[in-house]
Amino acid sequence: MPAQLKGKVAVVTGAASGIGLASAQAMIAEGAKVVFVDRDEEALLALCEKHGDAAVPMVVDLLDAQACKQLIPRILEAVGVIDIFHANAGLYVGGDLVDADPDAIDRMMNLNVNVVMKNVRDVIPHMAARKTGDIVVTSSLAAHYPTPWEPVYASSKWAINCFVQTTRRQVFKDGLRIGSVSPGPVVTGLLADWPEDKLAQAKASGSLIEASEIAEILIFMLTRPRGMTIRDVVVMPTNFDL
Ligand code: NAD
Repeated sequence: MPAQLKGKVAVVTGAASGIGLASAQAMIAEGAKVVFVDRDEEALLALCEKHGDAAVPMVVDLLDAQACKQLIPRILEAVGVIDIFHANAGLYVGGDLVDADPDAIDRMMNLNVNVVMKNVRDVIPHMAARKTGDIVVTSSLAAHYPTPWEPVYASSKWAINCFVQTTRRQVFKDGLRIGSVSPGPVVTGLLADWPEDKLAQAKASGSLIEASEIAEILIFMLTRPRGMTIRDVVVMPTNFDL
């Protein structure tokens, strides 16, 4: 099969590990040039070196308000255009609400919701001027089902799902598509913060998903004919007790 994203320029946030890394590598395999955005400089530079001209590292702490504001202009200065924007970087706060650290709540809500909204806000005018562009947000299964063991995290993903759905029709008139992928438990560093009993249950029920499987879904979404919206894909383990 020919490279399906040949000639496209993509941006992936949180690209130094987990789902973001799998997404970025899958897009490169499909012929795209990918800007890897992450705060983890060491991992980012080592990863991008492996991909030559196809990977552009951009070390950014998205929780730094000024750096976040400059993200899209910086990327455009470096690579000229953005065809695909994968808003993926996210944090996790699990467990009971009363045990959650207020500062961790702030950081997580900021990254999972505000930063995504601001990045998408900044990229839309560029894409709208070109009358083409795809935006995908990494949401979560928690955005579709109330998961009482992670109320803080679930709230951030419900918020961003609402944002995707409300933005979709507004940008569609300009030829842009926005969608989300909502995985259940994916084998990444983020699972280290999961409540132990839930992780054990996910393992025992065979519910763990590989990041590469999410990347395959993303490629499917991004390669639909342009007249077709990419909607919200939920990756639902069948045996997992939510
Ligand atoms: P991960 O921890 O492996 O990757 C997150 C990446 O984001 C890391 O490379 C990290 O350095 C980067 N990052 C974190 N804070 C940043 C910041 N301030 N600025 C720039 N980069 C930053 O985790 P993951 O599981 O791959 O998470 C990716 C997304 O997937 C998140 O939005 C997460 O909520 C979502 N998600 C994960 C799962 C899961 O089970 N792993 C399930 C559903 C949704």
